[in-house]
Order: sequence, then structure tokens, then C-alpha cells
Amino acid sequence: MNNVETIAVVPTILRRGGAWFSALGRPKNAGTKIFCISGHVNKPCNVEEELGIPLRELIDTYAGGVRGGWDNLLAVIPGGSSVPLIPKDICDTVLMDFDSLRDVKSGLGTAGVIVMDKSTDVIRAIDRLAQFYKHESCGQCTPCREGTGWMMRVMHRMVQGRAEVEEIDTLEKVTKQVEGHTICALGDAAAWPIQGLIRHFRPVMEERIAQYKAARAPRPMPMAAE
Ligand code: SF4
Repeated sequence: MNNVETIAVVPTILRRGGAWFSALGRPKNAGTKIFCISGHVNKPCNVEEELGIPLRELIDTYAGGVRGGWDNLLAVIPGGSSVPLIPKDICDTVLMDFDSLRDVKSGLGTAGVIVMDKSTDVIRAIDRLAQFYKHESCGQCTPCREGTGWMMRVMHRMVQGRAEVEEIDTLEKVTKQVEGHTICALGDAAAWPIQGLIRHFRPVMEERIAQYKAARAPRPMPMAAE
């Protein structure tokens, strides 16, 4: 047994035995998890299921599917707001356990599954998380205190496209300087969502920047009438 989600499961384990519980899921990812499915699904819910259930099955079986159907899925944050999002092509096949999500550079975390359909402005969604983590920083250690504010301000500009393309790399570098350099896990939590955005949606960020520039490019002067 390595994942007793709540003490509520203990009586059942005592009745059925540890071997039964350990047989659920996969090796090193045994047991059950309480998944909290929210966002663009038809029936947001909390459900306890076997670890390793495919993400798609989890959403379709318990949350009534993605709003507008599976093909309308943009991305999922699979383990609470701090873990990197995964785009639809990964969601198609990924299993909901620790190792599977780590293999796709995300994490099971709290198993808070946040579903985003194609109507989502994914840059704005991650900007909102950056704002949250900036607000939550207690300020005790410098990389988190300064980094969360810096990342939030850059993310605000990225939402508008009011940035240079090279700043995407700078933003990513700053997330790496915060990640693993703080006293508590909030620094990592602030860095990972932005890393996920850049890893999977860099073209969307670049397009936003290009749109912003195009909208502000000087227009040719109209020719004076002869
Ligand atoms: S990482 Fe934790 S301890 Fe450090 S400033 Fe952020 S919230 Fe405070």
C-alpha cells in the first residue's frame, strides 16, 4: 500500500486485506485516488477511482465528458493548479497515476483535474494562476518573493502580446531559477504552470505577440489628392 487517500478507505482495507488494495492500479502506483474534476466538463465531480485509470475514461465516465465533446478539449491540468498542463494529444492516452504523469512532465499532485476546452484563452488561464501564486507568496525567500511578482507581470503582458518573442525564453529561465530554490513548494508551484504553457503552447504565445505588433504597426499614409 502506498497511497491510502483518506482514512475512510482503511476499514475496507482491513476487511479485504492489504494485498487486495495493492492489487489496484499498477506497481509503484497502487491503490485509489480521489479525483476532483472541474472546469469545462458537463458534470464536475469528486470521485474515488483506481490509480492508473485513463484520463479520458475518468472524464467521460464520471464528469459527463468534455463540454462539446472530447475533440473540443484543449488541455488539462491533471494534478491541481501547480502542475504543468498537458495538451489534448497527451490527454488522449495518459494514465492517471504518479509515474505516467511524471513521464509526460506533469504530475498527479492533488489529482485536481482542471479541464479546459478550446474556448479557453490558455495564456490568460496560466496568467491567472501566476497571479494566485504571487498573492500566496509569504515573501520569506527571495526567489519566490521576487520571482512570483516578476513572472506575474510578464505573464500579464503575454496575455496582451505586449512582449518580445525572446522574453518567452527569459520567462522560462526565471521559472528555472525559482524552481527548487525556495524553502517551501510554493516556488515550484508558481514555476510549473508557466513551464507547461511554454512547453506546449509557445506558438500561441508567439502568435499573440505577432498580433499585438501587427495591430500597432504604422499604417501607410494615404496619398494626397492631386
Ligand atoms: S517559497 Fe514558500 S517560504 Fe519561500 S517565499 Fe514562497 S511561500 Fe514563502
